[in-house]
Formats: sequence, structure tokens, C-alpha cells
Amino acid sequence: MTSESPHRLSSDPAPQVSLVIPMYNERDGLDHLFSTLLPIIGAATESFEIVVVNDGSSDDTLQRLLDWQSRLAQLRVIDLSRNFGKEAALTAGLQHCRGACAITLDADLQDPPELIVEMLARWREGYETVVAVHAERSTDPYMQRQLSSGFYRLLNAVSEMRFVPHAGDFRLLDRCVIDAFLQLPERTRFNKGLFAWIGFRPYLIKHHRPARTRGKSAFNFRRLLHLATDGITSFSLFPLRLWMYVGTVIAGLAFVYGSFIVLRTIVLGSDVPGYASIIVAVMFLGGINLFSIGVLGAYVGRIFLESKQRPLYVVRRAHEPSATAAANESR
Ligand code: UDP
Ligand code: MG
Repeated sequence: MTSESPHRLSSDPAPQVSLVIPMYNERDGLDHLFSTLLPIIGAATESFEIVVVNDGSSDDTLQRLLDWQSRLAQLRVIDLSRNFGKEAALTAGLQHCRGACAITLDADLQDPPELIVEMLARWREGYETVVAVHAERSTDPYMQRQLSSGFYRLLNAVSEMRFVPHAGDFRLLDRCVIDAFLQLPERTRFNKGLFAWIGFRPYLIKHHRPARTRGKSAFNFRRLLHLATDGITSFSLFPLRLWMYVGTVIAGLAFVYGSFIVLRTIVLGSDVPGYASIIVAVMFLGGINLFSIGVLGAYVGRIFLESKQRPLYVVRRAHEPSATAAANESR
């Protein structure tokens, strides 16, 4: 899926560090982001590139990126044909980056760029992946914090994988981790799960996640719920198995109750009343049936999506820095 632009000479040496940043309607934060990021990354390494994926922004994010590109020879802009979602945009960025390691971060500076220095230091020490973990989520609303902790507990309970709670998408990945990640073929990208699956023991850095100062979060409750169901259905078969257990228990109870009724009818003779227990049993079983069909549906839907084998994203154009940008910069 990598499309090399004619501007880029194949003899260009690969940079040491790639910063991969997905952007969706980030026009307001863009200048602030680059002016904060550039001194930090410039001091940390002399050879870097910034790969920004424009995830179908409806504002003028792309135009502003291209303005920056004319001055910044390290900036590469991958323009997707529409909004494919953050997880797909990140995958696009990782697919196009060329660094010996990549650092993925959000455009809104909620991932403090100062940490990049420590991440690189750990990487040079030999860690293959470095993950920033939110020490506390005091900037998130109370309900969201509770739901988020509950979600990780549930996920860890029903899945065989161990997930690092409160790890965001701010992480450093060595080339070997990037390659492993890109080998995973699935369409449903629950990145946290995929990273847990590929292994490579992470080095964790705790940090305080500041609130977003510019623009607004693209994640509402519905999108988060969707992501949570993706996470559970892609990494656990427990919801499917559960109904087998529930069914077994209910069948067992029904058998005991049935035997009791038969015995009672033999001993005491038949009695007509029983409407209440019948209606309760019918409704209860009806509810369970519907629910379990829904769970089946969630997995069948997943199979459906995977079997179509559609690409994860479509690139409209990869804007590579031209030779003039390099000349401007060196002037
Ligand atoms: N993002 C994206 N595509 C989307 C939604 C978000 O590329 O459909 C980017 C967004 O521009 C930002 C990052 O993903 O760089 C995190 O988004 P946001 O700050 O909205 O999420 P939150 O911090 O609330 O989790
Ligand atoms: Mg954010």
C-alpha cells in the first residue's frame, strides 16, 4: 500500500525517528503543535520525519499542513480520501513511515511531547516499545473514568491477553514492532489489543494527561462504546461461550422443575393453575434468546467485515516534501 512519490529519491536515507500523527479537523491546534514539537524532536535526534495522516478533515487542516510542508522538509502528509477513524489513520501512518522507530501521538498535545526524549532514551537502552500510561485521568469526566476502568477490568477478565490499563496511543515502536503490527491482517483495528497481541514487553512511563486546549475531541460516547465492543469481540470469545453455560444451567433447572411437576401430578393429580410460571419462563427464555442472538450477530458481523477484505483506508495522495522545501529550510 506504500506509494512512493516521485519527489522522493530512493537514495534518501531512512530517518532514525518517525513521528506519526493522525489528524482530523485539527486546524486550530496545528501551529501550536509544530512549534512545540519541533524544538523537542530537533534536540532529541538529528534525523527524523513527521508523518501526518489527514483523516478526511472537513476543515482546512490539509491546506495548513501543506503550508507547513513548504517550510519543513521533514513533513510528509498522507491525505486519506475520507474519514476512516483514528485507528485506521494510525495504521496508514505506520505503513508509510520509514524510521528505525516510530512515535505515535495525538495532534492536540494531550500527549506531552517532552516525553519523547525519555522514550528515545529507553529505546536506545534496548526497549522495543515504550508506552505512556495516564497516571490519573482527572481531566476526564467522572463517569468516563469509571466506565474506562470498568472496561479494562472486563476486558482483562474475559480475554486471555493482558492489557495495560490507561495506556493511550502515545507510544514508541521499534521497527520490528511496526513490522509485526503491519502484518496483522484484520480490518477491525483495536490498536491496544493488537499491540498486546504482538507482545514485546513494554517499558511504561507514567504521565499526567492534560486536557485538550484547542479544537474538540472527536470521540463521543457512541464512538467510545463502539471501540469498546470492538475491543471485546476481537479479543475474547467469552461472550459467545457464556450463553452455552447459561443455556446449560437453565436447561438443568428446567429439567429439575419439570421432574418436580411430573412427580407432583402423579402424586397429587393435575391442577390447572400455572399461568404465572409459564409466562415468566417464556419471557425469561425469550429475553435470553434475543440477547444471545444479538451476541452471535456481533461476531457474525465481524466475520462479514473481515471476509470482505477491504483495505483499511484509501490514500488520496501522499504529499512528499519537495526539493524546494529543503532548500528553503537550509537557507
Ligand atoms: N483523530 C483522527 N480521526 C478521527 C478522530 C480523531 O485521526 O476520526 C485524531 C485526532 O485528530 C487526534 C487524535 O486522533 O490527533 C485523538 O483524537 P481526540 O483528541 O479527538 O481523542 P481523545 O483525546 O478525546 O481520545
Ligand atoms: Mg485528545
